[in-house]
Amino acid sequence: MATASNENDIDDFLSGRGHDTDSPGWEESYNKKQCPDCGGLHETDASTCSVCGWSPRAD
Ligand SMILES: [Zn+2]
Repeated sequence: MATASNENDIDDFLSGRGHDTDSPGWEESYNKKQCPDCGGLHETDASTCSVCGWSPRAD
């Protein structure tokens, strides 16, 4: 559930909770990245999900 707005607020929120904001949110399956949102599989160099548009947290 990525929202374009309030991104900085979310960063602060997660950082405050000790969440690793550097870690991408991809799941891994069969040596591919799997979108945690729709389950779509992507090559390991994928930066966004081409199926649903999800992307891991980037700075
Ligand atoms: Zn997806």
